Amino acid sequence: MKRREFLAMAGGLALAGCGGAGGDGQSGGQTGGGTPPAALPVIVIGAGIAGLATARQLADAGKKVVVLEARNRLGGRIHTSSKWVDAPLDLGATWIHGDGAANPLTGLAQKAAARTTTTSFARDTAYDADGHILISAEQATMTRLRTEIRAAVTAYQESTSDAPLRDAIYRGVDYANKVPFEQRLTDHLINTTYEHEYSGPATELSALNFDSDSRFTGDERLFLDGYGVLTSYLAKGLDVRLEQVVSAINYSNETVTVTTGQGTIQGTAVLVTVPLGVLQSGAIQFSPALPADKLNAINGLGMGTLNKCYLRFPVAFWDTSADWINYVPAAANRGEWAEWLSLARVTGKPVLLGFNAADYGRSLEKLSDSEIVARAMQTLRAIYGNAIPAPVDWQITRWMSDPFARGAYSFNKLGAPAGARTTLAAPLSRRVYFAGEATDAKYFQSVHGAYLSGLRAANEVLNQKTT
Ligand SMILES: Cc1cc2nc3c(=O)[nH]c(=O)nc-3n(C[C@H](O)[C@H](O)[C@H](O)COP(=O)(O)OP(=O)(O)OC[C@H]3O[C@@H](n4cnc5c(N)ncnc54)[C@H](O)[C@@H]3O)c2cc1C
Repeated sequence: MKRREFLAMAGGLALAGCGGAGGDGQSGGQTGGGTPPAALPVIVIGAGIAGLATARQLADAGKKVVVLEARNRLGGRIHTSSKWVDAPLDLGATWIHGDGAANPLTGLAQKAAARTTTTSFARDTAYDADGHILISAEQATMTRLRTEIRAAVTAYQESTSDAPLRDAIYRGVDYANKVPFEQRLTDHLINTTYEHEYSGPATELSALNFDSDSRFTGDERLFLDGYGVLTSYLAKGLDVRLEQVVSAINYSNETVTVTTGQGTIQGTAVLVTVPLGVLQSGAIQFSPALPADKLNAINGLGMGTLNKCYLRFPVAFWDTSADWINYVPAAANRGEWAEWLSLARVTGKPVLLGFNAADYGRSLEKLSDSEIVARAMQTLRAIYGNAIPAPVDWQITRWMSDPFARGAYSFNKLGAPAGARTTLAAPLSRRVYFAGEATDAKYFQSVHGAYLSGLRAANEVLNQKTT
């Protein structure tokens, strides 16, 4: 995700086979034998940034904490790939959005001694479907339409009835009476400004509430060694148990019992930080069942798609002073391969990253890697000609098909109940707590929102004096 518009506008059983991540190897939380509650750990489910922030805070406050993570790695939707040894790549989150001092990740990155740099939306080039660079009159049309679209959204948000974002914009800008070029640009802006940003299809995003989040000011900062430096830093010394797929949480007694593929573990409380898409799938069974308002919140919010396709070339054949390459597709290819990030300037590597979100991003997941690369190359050849080299390698994400993510991040869907995120975040019975990006009403969708939600949930546990 990007922030273009904002910036423009301003144990029990031994739990055998556990992989540790700096854990002390203790077997905290054994079931059976009448272990007194005070000796039991707080159980955190998920070792993404929210789970690790929560676990860190609790451990620093002197609590015994066990983190159960389904994957064989830390980080969740922060995933730094080391497949290309000279070029670590982020397959999930890329940027600290708004790197000012108010953003808690700014200080965290400094503590972790992360090597970072910034990209800029001002360094961009825009191409039309046939590959010509938009001339100044065409760019002026794009600027005018951007203003018209924003005004249409603002005007619509004065009303009380909701509508799909695309309908509200189409009506507000009188889309039906625009010439075809303006219609294509309008669709391009809806796709890149809203769908790539919020991950949901513009036909499902709530026109009233899709952008109810807040932003930090500052630049867009990325990690030269990958975002994973933050999750590794937070996880130091914690008891993180990998390959523990949680399937059930029983909170009907004074203690909680969590079931994984490896056994059960008991705790004084459980913090659930799995993604919204995992909660929606019903992969974790709660006993007692989750209350109706919680279920309505879970099912009312949307889980969107944003996928990445990194292509590595033998040489950079594009303008390496640009960070962003925008492509306005033909009407029939709306929402396809419209936005590219060049890593050439910031890393010196001949790598392009194509983003695809919402419906198209989702449909791509059904294709093989070579089919996806072929489609990406069609666009690049339209821009740069047929003589450009073929990529030497690629890395492609499928976040919606990932059973431990089930999407890229949450979005405010048309029809979501009021206060859904606050309801989602609310603890149950002083024993079950919720964190994760989707639970943060102010900064949902983001790493900083997930991080802050983890701190909030840790404080809830500490204030409830559960042990
Ligand atoms: C392609 C992409 C690009 C993004 N770009 C940005 C960006 O540039 N900047 C930004 O701020 N945000 C970005 N985001 C969003 C950001 O990555 C997320 O908001 C954030 O990482 C979510 O953290 P979390 O801890 O809430 O969830 P997660 O990181 O998903 O952590 C949840 C953990 O729970 C685990 N889990 C799931 N099911 C189970 C189970 N049954 N048992 C045990 N464990 C389970 C998962 O494996 C995972 O490790 C992006 C996301 C994607 C996908």
